[in-house]
Amino acid sequence: MDPELEIRDQGGPPVGRTDKERQRDRYERECRKHHRSRDEQRQIDEHVRQRKARTSRRAPRAWDEDDSVAFEKIKRAERLRPDPAAASSADAAGDGVTEPGTPAGLVVWLGRGVARVELDGVVHEAVLSAELARHQQSAIAVGDRVECEVASDRELRVRVVAPRRSWLARPDPGIAGRERVFAANLDVAVLVVAARQPTLRPGLIDRFCIAVERGRVAPLICINKVDLLADAGDRTALEEQLAPYTDQGLAVCQVSASRGLGIDELRAQLAGCTCVFVGPSGVGKSSLLNCLDPMASRAVGAVRTADGKGRHTTTASCLVALGADTRCIDTPGVRAFGLGQVSAAELAAAFPEIAGAAAACRFRDCRHDREPECAVRDAVAAGGIARRRWESWQRVAAADG
Ligand code: GDP
Ligand code: ZN
Repeated sequence: MDPELEIRDQGGPPVGRTDKERQRDRYERECRKHHRSRDEQRQIDEHVRQRKARTSRRAPRAWDEDDSVAFEKIKRAERLRPDPAAASSADAAGDGVTEPGTPAGLVVWLGRGVARVELDGVVHEAVLSAELARHQQSAIAVGDRVECEVASDRELRVRVVAPRRSWLARPDPGIAGRERVFAANLDVAVLVVAARQPTLRPGLIDRFCIAVERGRVAPLICINKVDLLADAGDRTALEEQLAPYTDQGLAVCQVSASRGLGIDELRAQLAGCTCVFVGPSGVGKSSLLNCLDPMASRAVGAVRTADGKGRHTTTASCLVALGADTRCIDTPGVRAFGLGQVSAAELAAAFPEIAGAAAACRFRDCRHDREPECAVRDAVAAGGIARRRWESWQRVAAADG
């Protein structure tokens, strides 16, 4: 039976219904609202449930719980070798610490072949091992947990990078299959876009969703400059643009850095987290960071009048405190998300409503593009899937091919 017909055939709610029946009625109302069959709605709900499970915020960890121990080990290792000239031949070859167990640190800044590593609240200069330096852009990033050793010349050297629990990366344009990681071990990635100036491009939000899904980071979509929305009509239009994301259960906040609107809520969402702010230039990332942490004063770029875009203001990646209990990886503005190959699973997770409709499509190899009687196209025509999302899906899917 056509699932749509099945839904429409349901009569009014009978008296004395069980919880299960009430739940089913609620479900069907939801399906009708979005012009979806029950199977489609179930698939979408499953996607949303899985996404939430994957990206649910992990409990923030205490920063220095094992670093103080690690730092002690470094100091002990140094004491073990008071005179580099008297070091053993192994040490002279630069083989490192003489006792088992290596210190752990946190990368707070990276330069070419060098890092600043925080240990027990103290930041140390360290060099990268030759292996790490060779593939620096993928091998080590700000936010990484690292093991260091004291080299023969008493210099601190980053030896190993611990496995990352999350990251943000983009494909390396020079080396196929390799990624450039620009922030590691993040709790939240905040995509900042502007309600106006520059124009909000939902395709960027879609690509961001795939990038964070890939890097296992919880996304937060932050719409800045809501002060530029002139009237209720503008606000409704914005809500409509955002509906595909709020429907998926993604966190969306609306703020104005210049008016201070929504800043306390944003700060509360980021409390205890390590986060990164990404987004096109000119959307107000620096202004927002300055609002969140008035002690830090970042240069705010003027928007170029010709195209409404801003200048680049941040120049190097570093990990900084953002207020009392939040850490932020400040990266040179990440303006676009090149994704490289996008898998079918990644596409489905970022576009659950399209995956839901596609499952009901009667052509197994349908491209959901021009085929007649395609369930996805039908859903777009009926308004169940936003046309803008379908177009964005097509662009990402085409890039995949
Ligand atoms: P970034 O390039 O993303 O770091 O953006 P900036 O913080 O440098 O801001 C770019 C421009 O947008 C500056 O001229 C800011 O004054 C302006 N701006 C930032 N936030 C807001 C806001 O909430 N409302 C309005 N109207 N302008 C803003
Ligand atoms: Zn189709």
